[in-house]
Amino acid sequence: MGKPKFVPFNDELMESTMQIFKTSFAFRNREYPIGNGKALQFIYSSKQFKTKGGLAAGTATTNVYRNAQFKKTMKAMQTPCCSPDEVIFGPDFHQSLYCHLLCGLIFRDEVQVVSSTFAHSIVHAFRTFEQVWEELVTDIREGSLSSRITVPSIRTAIARLLKPDPELADTIYSKCMGLSNWYGLIQELFPNTKYIYGIMTGSMEPYLKKLRHYAGELPLLSADYGSSEGWIGANVNPKLPPELATFAVLPDIGYFEFIPLKEDINGHEQERPCKLSAEPLPVGLTEVKVGEEYEIILTNFAGLYRYRLGDVVKVKGFHNSTPELQFICRRNLLLTVNIDKNTEKDLQLAVEAAAELLAEEKLEVVDFTSRVDFSTEPGHYVIFWEISGDPQDKILQECCNCLDRSFVDAGYVSSRKVNAIGPLELRIVKRGTFHKILDHYVGLGAAVSQFKTPRCVGPTNSTVLQILSLNGVKSYFSTAF
Ligand code: AMP
Repeated sequence: MGKPKFVPFNDELMESTMQIFKTSFAFRNREYPIGNGKALQFIYSSKQFKTKGGLAAGTATTNVYRNAQFKKTMKAMQTPCCSPDEVIFGPDFHQSLYCHLLCGLIFRDEVQVVSSTFAHSIVHAFRTFEQVWEELVTDIREGSLSSRITVPSIRTAIARLLKPDPELADTIYSKCMGLSNWYGLIQELFPNTKYIYGIMTGSMEPYLKKLRHYAGELPLLSADYGSSEGWIGANVNPKLPPELATFAVLPDIGYFEFIPLKEDINGHEQERPCKLSAEPLPVGLTEVKVGEEYEIILTNFAGLYRYRLGDVVKVKGFHNSTPELQFICRRNLLLTVNIDKNTEKDLQLAVEAAAELLAEEKLEVVDFTSRVDFSTEPGHYVIFWEISGDPQDKILQECCNCLDRSFVDAGYVSSRKVNAIGPLELRIVKRGTFHKILDHYVGLGAAVSQFKTPRCVGPTNSTVLQILSLNGVKSYFSTAF
């Protein structure tokens, strides 16, 4: 559990990756043209290793960033990365992140785009900036790199770029001091940025609020839809807000089939049949219907045959003859005690609703996850929250009740009413807990660039459970039913 997955990768997949990058860039550039400049890209390469048979193995993003085609494409898109390769390929992602920020500041006037693969990395980067900005300013003022950077190759590479620049240091200092609660930080630091770019849909949606805060007036453009197994669709309507983003399937980038997912008779969207035997036959790309939901099956150019991706998508319309898909959620059920079924999306909506109560206190949910606790009789849902401050118990109790009420799945509500599921528990964890979880995954070889906080922690994931339990601060039980 938590180990990175390794799927076949070859030149064809690399080519299709560049194809979709260029396709969506053309659509973006029509709406938001960028000049020659640079991109501040929070990208990180994880370790590569050799299989017993001598093949190079690595995560998908690592394969892409290491390929010479990637650099060429970035150049063609007028936005080479601010940071030298030593930073992208550094062995310690904390050090790489610090140096990405530093390089961005050095080239602040040239930065046209701020991006990452998944939006989480951008939010994570600017949360870190809040902690280290004075150190970055000192580095720029004195032209010498902080001693926190210990990797020799990174130190050498940065030394080539970093010169004492008191004027730049003063500008950044006064910009930061002038901000209220870091609102508009990205716009202030990088005044020529045209937009912020990264995957912002699906499990990235919970970070949008914070990203908008950092972005100020800058537009957020949601990136394409794909996976390590292959790309699927491009965002050809970049002006749409990320919440409404759809992805036009590139019909020749793989072979796609779609398993229709029937809605429950009560019309509850998230309740879907999950028995394989009960499943309808897959339909082809041109046979999908607008308004219907499907699970994608992918056959790619690297040898995966009829691979079930596990994602649920909804057809929103057609771009010429190819369907435009909205990402709905991962198909696997997350939370279930008995007849209840709640997906990642249901959890996300519940957390969103309860976080409104915190927003009234000017506080936010930094990150969250969940589990089902069967050690009590009956079992119950546990939601873990890391929050940005310390609200009164009364507020958190209300949040807990709100979470419990926000799972509207009929199975959950009826089970709660008869106490076949126990009161929902909200556990608050210490600041920094989710960084520890990220570090844990990175330690297992996960790619930071592909990191998605696990929204449900199963019983086999004992290390993450241990991190959550060791960092628990307070617990609340719902009184909503
Ligand atoms: P990975 O397993 O790291 O290759 O990530 C692939 C998974 O990330 C996909 O199967 C989706 O669940 C998710 N994903 C990728 N692109 C998007 C997108 N544009 N919107 C929502 N989820 C996405």
